[in-house]
Amino acid sequence: MLTATKDIMLPTTIIGSLPRPSWFTENLRERNFLHAMMDSRFREQYTDVVSVYLKEQECAGLDIVTDGDAHYDEQVGGQSWTTYPVYHMEGFDKYHPQQAEMKTGGVAFPMGHILHDYLEARIMPKLTGPVGRGDLQFSALWKTAQRMTKKPVKFGTITPELLAAAVDDEYYKDPIERIYAISAALNEELNELADAGCPVIQMEEPQIHMIPSRGKVFGKLDMDDAVKLFNDTVKGLGAKTEVWCHTCWGNPSQQRMFKDVMSYAPAMEKLNDVEADVITFESCSSGRMDLEAIGKYITDKKVAIGVVDHHSLQVERPEEVADHIREALKHIPAERLVICSDCGMGREGMNRRHARYKMVSLVLGTNIVRKELGLPEAEFLAADDRYSLLKIAD
Ligand SMILES: [Zn+2]
Repeated sequence: MLTATKDIMLPTTIIGSLPRPSWFTENLRERNFLHAMMDSRFREQYTDVVSVYLKEQECAGLDIVTDGDAHYDEQVGGQSWTTYPVYHMEGFDKYHPQQAEMKTGGVAFPMGHILHDYLEARIMPKLTGPVGRGDLQFSALWKTAQRMTKKPVKFGTITPELLAAAVDDEYYKDPIERIYAISAALNEELNELADAGCPVIQMEEPQIHMIPSRGKVFGKLDMDDAVKLFNDTVKGLGAKTEVWCHTCWGNPSQQRMFKDVMSYAPAMEKLNDVEADVITFESCSSGRMDLEAIGKYITDKKVAIGVVDHHSLQVERPEEVADHIREALKHIPAERLVICSDCGMGREGMNRRHARYKMVSLVLGTNIVRKELGLPEAEFLAADDRYSLLKIAD
C-alpha cells in the first residue's frame, strides 16, 4: 500500500547506499548489529554516520531518505550488500568462510578486469544447515535511523536468488530449494520490519529483467518463476507498508556489468506482475531508452526513474534532470512518477561530495518541473544562496 509516496507529487529519493566517510573505520564483520552496538566506539561511529547520511539527504531536499546502508562493511566492490545477510542468517558457517565457487561455468570478468577483484573477494560462508532469519535484525537497523528523522526511512535488502547464487551449499539438494528457504526467512524478517512501522521496504534486484539476456536463474527459473519468487518473498507486506522493487544493471565498484547498454523492454510486461507499489528503473545511464515501454507496460504501479547515474562522477545538471523528467511525463502520469538515482552511490568508488551534489541536482531538477506544473517545490538548504560563503564584488 502507498505510504511514503502517497500524498507527494514527484517524490524524490535515492536507491540506498551512500559513500562512507573516511572516519567511519568500524565494521560489523561477523558480529550481529545489537552486539556491535554494545561496543561504545562502534556505537558512536555508527550512529554518527547514520546521522550524517540523514542530514545530507535532508539538506538536499529529498522526500524519502535511507540510512545510507551504513551497516554494510567496507568491502571490495561493495560486496557487503551480499555478505551482510549470509554472515548474519542461520544455516551459514560464518566462522569458516571460503571463496565461493563460480556457478556460471565461466568467469565473466577475467584477470585484468576490475571486477575480477570483486569475484576473488567473494569469501562466503558455506550453507551447512537449514536457513533461518538468524541475526538479520532489520528492525533494529531501521529504527536506529528512523528515530533520528521525521522523514520516512526506506529500508532495502538484496533478494534471495542473488544470495543463493553467492554461496556454496552442503545442505540443500537443489538450488531452487535453497532460494525458497532464503525467501521464506527474508519474508519473516521483512514482515517483522513492516510490523515495526517501516514505511518503505525495497527489494533490490529480482532477476526478472536479467533473464532475457542471461538465461534462466540456475537454468531453471524463467521470468514467471522469478515473479512468483518475488511475490512469495514480499507476501504479507503489501497490506502493511509500501513495497518497492528496485531493478538496475549492476553496481559493484560502481561498474557497469554489461558492455552494451541494456534495455528492460523484453521483461517489461512481466515486471508489471510483481506485487510492489513502486518499481525503480535505471534510466539515466541508459539514455532514457525505456521510458516509452515503461509507460506502456507498467500501468498500475508507481514508477521511479533514475535521473542521476551511479557509475559516473559527472554531476548531472538540474536542467538535464528536469529534461529527463519532462520526457518521462510524456509516458508516465505525474501522479505515478517518482524521481530517484539509478542505483546506490556507495558501493565503492564515488566520493561523498559527488553523491551529495547528485542528490542536490536531483531535487533542483525536480523543482524546475514542479514549478512548471504548479506543484509545491521542496524547500531545502543545500542550494540556498543566503548561506554561500563566497565573497562577491558588487
Ligand atoms: Zn541497483
